[in-house]
Amino acid sequence: MALAYIGLGGNIGDTRQFITDAIVCLALNPELQVKTRSCLYQSAPVNATGNDFINAVVSIETALTPEDLLNICQNIEFSFGRERPYINAPRTLDLDVLAYDAISVQKEKLTIPHPRMVERAFVLLPLLEIAPDLELPGFGKLSQYVDNVAHQRIEKIKGLSCPIQHH
Ligand code: ADP
Ligand code: MG
Repeated sequence: MALAYIGLGGNIGDTRQFITDAIVCLALNPELQVKTRSCLYQSAPVNATGNDFINAVVSIETALTPEDLLNICQNIEFSFGRERPYINAPRTLDLDVLAYDAISVQKEKLTIPHPRMVERAFVLLPLLEIAPDLELPGFGKLSQYVDNVAHQRIEKIKGLSCPIQHH
């Protein structure tokens, strides 16, 4: 079994609900098990247009290959009406494979670890919330990148499982 991390985000429509539902979709898949989920985070768009983004990260265990995992993620995006009119367009739901054990994949359609995650507070902070000691090939310990994203506006959304507000 591999331990993998999936980042979910979006900024069109009822994104909180979409992310919650997408995590249920993942959990319903018999070929993977959702282990932990982060709080929901709200952040200003980075290199993108539109509303604030809502993001979360989940860890999963699976025997699927990274490519099959990406396929499952893309099918879920598609079922939530994701369209890709242009790069970094506003999106209903984006699912990225952030990491898969300690492996590196460099293929045209799949790069793991996800190359831009340490530049994005909305990926890095929810990931570190559920995996504070994570180390990945090419990056080392992820916690060392927190200072680089400290200027990005982001906050945890208060909720039943996330009663404390951090900045
Ligand atoms: P982004 O997530 O970078 O904003 P998209 O969701 O539109 O952009 O993805 C564009 C392409 O990125 C996908 O077609 C997919 O093949 C590729 N891709 C490469 N590596 C990954 C990864 N680790 N997770 C998800 N998609 C990836
Ligand atoms: Mg994506």
